[in-house]
Amino acid sequence: MANISEAEIRKIVESILKASSATSSESYTSTEYAGRKLVGIYSDMNEAIDAAEKGYFAVRAMTVEQREKIIAEIRRLTVAEAPIMAEMGVRETGMGKVEHKRLKHFLVAEKTPGTEDIVSEAKTGDSGLTLTEMAPFGVVGAITPSTNPSETVICNSIGMIAAGNGVVFNPHPGAICVSNYAVDLVNRASAAAGGPEVLVCSMDKPTMDSASIMQSHPKIKLLVCTGGPGVVRAVLSSGKKAIGAGAGNPPVIVDDTADIRKAGKDIIDGCTFDNNLPCIAEKEVFAFSNIADRLIDEMQKNGAYLINREQADKLAKIVLVEKTTKSGKTVKTVSRECVGRDAHVLLAKIGIEVSDSVRCIICETDFMHDFVQHELMMPILPIVRVENIAEAIDLAVKAEHGNRHTAHMHSKNIDNLSAFAKAVETTIFVKNAPSYAGIGFGGEGHTTFTIAGPTGEGITSARSFTRKRRCVLADNFRII
Ligand code: NAD
Repeated sequence: MANISEAEIRKIVESILKASSATSSESYTSTEYAGRKLVGIYSDMNEAIDAAEKGYFAVRAMTVEQREKIIAEIRRLTVAEAPIMAEMGVRETGMGKVEHKRLKHFLVAEKTPGTEDIVSEAKTGDSGLTLTEMAPFGVVGAITPSTNPSETVICNSIGMIAAGNGVVFNPHPGAICVSNYAVDLVNRASAAAGGPEVLVCSMDKPTMDSASIMQSHPKIKLLVCTGGPGVVRAVLSSGKKAIGAGAGNPPVIVDDTADIRKAGKDIIDGCTFDNNLPCIAEKEVFAFSNIADRLIDEMQKNGAYLINREQADKLAKIVLVEKTTKSGKTVKTVSRECVGRDAHVLLAKIGIEVSDSVRCIICETDFMHDFVQHELMMPILPIVRVENIAEAIDLAVKAEHGNRHTAHMHSKNIDNLSAFAKAVETTIFVKNAPSYAGIGFGGEGHTTFTIAGPTGEGITSARSFTRKRRCVLADNFRII
């Protein structure tokens, strides 16, 4: 990202201090924050799309330098107001941890690529010069989740604006206030940097109906969906070009060559980050049986609380609830009352009182246990003993359910590491580190909160939201 001067750093620090004192104890709704009307929020999806189209025309008319000025201001405001959004996100959804949500906003501000991600190609030859440029799609319709609400709105906005698009959001209704706060932040950044007052738009009350208007509206040229399997399926069957960033259930393998002390700490650090809400976070462990006891011991030293099988079965009946689908089938889904909750709160539900120093609940289970098979998104980590690498890979691949999302491994055996990486075919594969290294937090590479496994864009960035256009000049403009 661009170099920041000392004066700019001072400005950022001053805004952080100011923002820290203005916490989200302020009152808010999906259209107002502390008595101020949020900009870019509409009651009608058609109106929101028309406004986003005006934003698109404004961005299209800008120089790249002007776009970059807006993006720099989005980054600055995101850092400055991270404490507000972190606290508001936890207060509104009841999920996650304020200190981790703050870090997620800093990560988005610092490591989401901007206009530098848009690169043109030139091909010269006997027949002249051909340029291929990454052009905007137009107005993008974006659906965002409750698990990383404002982080996804800001991350998507930076990439989509950098690529020259307009954006209309249909955020998760359960996180609408903080999502719309982020939409307003992007619009404030635009106005402050000389851009339009309304650059990105959202709904005051998003619904399935507003999502379906978005999905079929002729002005929407690209759909970008970050969420669970239901919504990804819906956008992929819309008939429009769509980017689908769907569910994961990341397995971790620990073999007997791993640094067990480090593996125990890394797994608990990754699994408990924002109370396991990130889709990349460790969800189940396959441990070689000759190191499993030591691994469990290391996890306990790092804030994990071990429950027995009977307690695990009791907890599973609380954190997973049965639901009847439209076709009359009974399925188990995660209880919204438990997603992203603190470990001590979950333990209290089965009568175990512990202090909030307990970060994670661990238990030994078999492969078919609900804790292994379901994407829980809470700090509960099942551990399955395996005898060798073949068994570990076989079970871990099955537990990933073909999501092609994320997998992790702790090992020093390059044959084992390569064999699992090849077999699991995930978008992200993290070796010997906590899961968040996979999105640039303590690992190399840019960040995103939209990891598009099903449609293949992977770790999305500005270039993912572009279409290629070619311009040919025959017989000329060669200099050799
Ligand atoms: P969710 O699927 O409940 O909701 C996501 C969004 O889709 C919301 O805005 C919701 O209102 C909307 N929605 C749901 N069904 C819809 C339908 N049929 N048509 C239109 N809109 C619909 O997701 P959530 O609980 O907020 O987030 C958690 C899920 O998202 C997990 O499965 C997680 O793995 C996944 N996720 C994936 C990524 C990624 O980058 N791949 C990132 C974050 C979350």
